[in-house]
Amino acid sequence: MESLNKIGTYSNSVNHMKKELMDILACPMCKGDLELNVTDVSDSVDEVTAGTLYCKKCDEYYPIEDGIPNMLPPNLRD
Ligand SMILES: [Zn+2]
Repeated sequence: MESLNKIGTYSNSVNHMKKELMDILACPMCKGDLELNVTDVSDSVDEVTAGTLYCKKCDEYYPIEDGIPNMLPPNLRD
């Protein structure tokens, strides 16, 4: 029985905000854990389309817009 090589099955929509991304996202300033607050979700693909990521340590919010988390530190957004 051949073993199939399953490496590389990552979806090309990996940049979009899926809930599993919470495992790898961290605060850009303190590298701490982020709290996900969902305001809109696409049920069909289990993707957060709008919401915020909140860092308790920094008391800072990172917005999710159109499924893309904005992980820029607040002082670099403008
Ligand atoms: Zn932080």
